[in-house]
Amino acid sequence: MKRIIIIGSGPAGLTAAIYAARGGVEPLIIAGSNLGGQLMLTTEVENFPGFETGIMGPELMERMRKQAERLGARFVDGDATSVELAKRPFKVWVGQTAYEGDAFIIATGASARWLGLESEQRLRGRGVSSCATCDAFFFKNKEVVVVGGGDTALEEALALSKVAKKITITHWRDRLRASKMLQDRAFKDEKIAFKWNSEVTEILGKAKVEGIRLKDVNTGEQTELKCDGVFIAVGHKPNTELFKGQLELDENGYIIAKKNTATSVEGVFVAGDVYDYVYRQAITAAGSGCKAALDAIRYLEAQEN
Ligand code: NAP
Repeated sequence: MKRIIIIGSGPAGLTAAIYAARGGVEPLIIAGSNLGGQLMLTTEVENFPGFETGIMGPELMERMRKQAERLGARFVDGDATSVELAKRPFKVWVGQTAYEGDAFIIATGASARWLGLESEQRLRGRGVSSCATCDAFFFKNKEVVVVGGGDTALEEALALSKVAKKITITHWRDRLRASKMLQDRAFKDEKIAFKWNSEVTEILGKAKVEGIRLKDVNTGEQTELKCDGVFIAVGHKPNTELFKGQLELDENGYIIAKKNTATSVEGVFVAGDVYDYVYRQAITAAGSGCKAALDAIRYLEAQEN
């Protein structure tokens, strides 16, 4: 049986695994040390079809994994540390162990971006976080800031509103890019305030977060805002370090799909947020995982004939 190796275990990788398992090939998933990708860091998912009253992100991913396993997919619960895509069979290493595959599907997703401030890195885990679901608990009755203007920023703020005393969303423009539904909820929430046209230039505090310094982007005026925690929600970057020099990437590091899900290397396919920076939804990632598996299966069948 031909083997397809899938790197990544978010909705893209797990859907690819389900389709590959049912398509008469052997799928091996290099699941990473954090199974499930970004949905493991979310709370309720209300827009994944089939779950009338919503489902928690981690539960959705656990169910997808069980579905893939029931159909015969095998998992390696470790991080891919290097790949060799120059000759076939392709190889991926997880530490010292190498795995070979006749076709590869890359579904390594994207990770949270940081502002790039020295103070931000120094105070990570000391009040600076990128995951309200993980860390909101530490800010019971405290004042926190959320940086960003997208869906993630608003979701973080709404999650924090359940425990924190006050949440200020700081955004460098004068309007949000988040969906209308989340905007409506945030504007209605009495604990959530907004600070517009403001860029965070420093996170203040020695051993823990004590506040932030903000610059008004129009006037240049600097102000300070006291807070106990800062949640950074300024978008994502693709997880493509492993593939640099082996697959064609665009100027932002996303994998380039040449035709459908085919990459610049014949036999290597791509799915999910690691190449799709436009839609970036669980359902679109799952859809592209399905497409990548079908493309990979067709490619292997064509090889046999
Ligand atoms: P995003 O939509 O790219 O938003 C990032 C936000 O951060 C933007 O408002 C951006 O400003 C701002 N920003 C970027 N760099 C910055 C910097 N250096 N300093 C300050 N602000 C900065 O990212 P996201 O919110 O993580 O969402 C990613 C994708 O996941 C989106 O497609 C989103 O719809 C989806 N998502 C969906 C849900 C849901 O449906 N429930 C939940 C979470 C995420 P600008 O506005 O000026 O660009």
